Amino acid sequence: MNLNSIAVFSGSNFGFNPAYAQGARALGREIARRGLRLVYGGSDKGLMGVMADTVLAEGGEVVGIITDRLVGLGHLHSGLTRHELTLDMRSRKHRISDCADAFIALPGGLGTFEELFEVATLTQLGEHSKAVACLNINDFFSPVRSLLNHAVTEGFMKVEHSEMLIFNADPCALLDALELWQAPTVTKWIEPGK
Ligand code: AMP
Repeated sequence: MNLNSIAVFSGSNFGFNPAYAQGARALGREIARRGLRLVYGGSDKGLMGVMADTVLAEGGEVVGIITDRLVGLGHLHSGLTRHELTLDMRSRKHRISDCADAFIALPGGLGTFEELFEVATLTQLGEHSKAVACLNINDFFSPVRSLLNHAVTEGFMKVEHSEMLIFNADPCALLDALELWQAPTVTKWIEPGK
């Protein structure tokens, strides 16, 4: 895949373990070093802020896409290369997805999980053909890997769709894998009895 813009979904909290912020900084440095544009939710909070600060400090480009409401609540990062405002969270996710060539999730909570699974679902359905990866800092995403394997075992998901998600704790290896990624060619649906 030819990568120019990477969308990163991540917690608006820091997490308790300092490894999470360290991992976010390591990813930010690697994104800037490769000359990739960071697209994200535009906040200065938690790991989101850590990522944006790191890419900006390394001279990289950071685009924030954020709702009017969150700006009103004081969440907009003040140093972004540029930002876009949207009316609601749904149109915001749509814009982030349109602006990115691939997606990375960092550790986070419900917001991060929802964004991660939505973009992966669109890839699974062939509505876009974009790679999705989880930066597995401190094994944070290993339970997600297990849950996907469980969905395959139980007949709700094809192994090709489970394995299309990239899990790696190393930002450099993760970005290399995104560049090499190829979309699965199977359809989503499993024939009964197979
Ligand atoms: P969570 O993992 O629940 O902290 O939610 C983080 C994800 O939801 C981010 O990737 C954002 O896209 C979105 N989000 C949550 N809080 C904010 C915020 N204060 N400003 C912008 N986006 C947010």
